[in-house]
Amino acid sequence: MKPEIHPTYHVTTVTCACGNSFETGSVKQALKVDVCSACHPHFTGVQKFVDAGGRVDRFKKKYGL
Ligand SMILES: [Zn+2]
Repeated sequence: MKPEIHPTYHVTTVTCACGNSFETGSVKQALKVDVCSACHPHFTGVQKFVDAGGRVDRFKKKYGL
């Protein structure tokens, strides 16, 4: 192992779009995520519609919906 070739690994606070935050290890200072274990449909059982960048709006316009 050559320690000098590895990026610094530190505890990072991950902030989710739902407002939840948790700590994990990462080489990045801060992370932002759209879904986490607290709000992901797989864990909550609730359907959540993620519309990143208004793609659905463009789809609706294209097809006149
Ligand atoms: Zn979340």
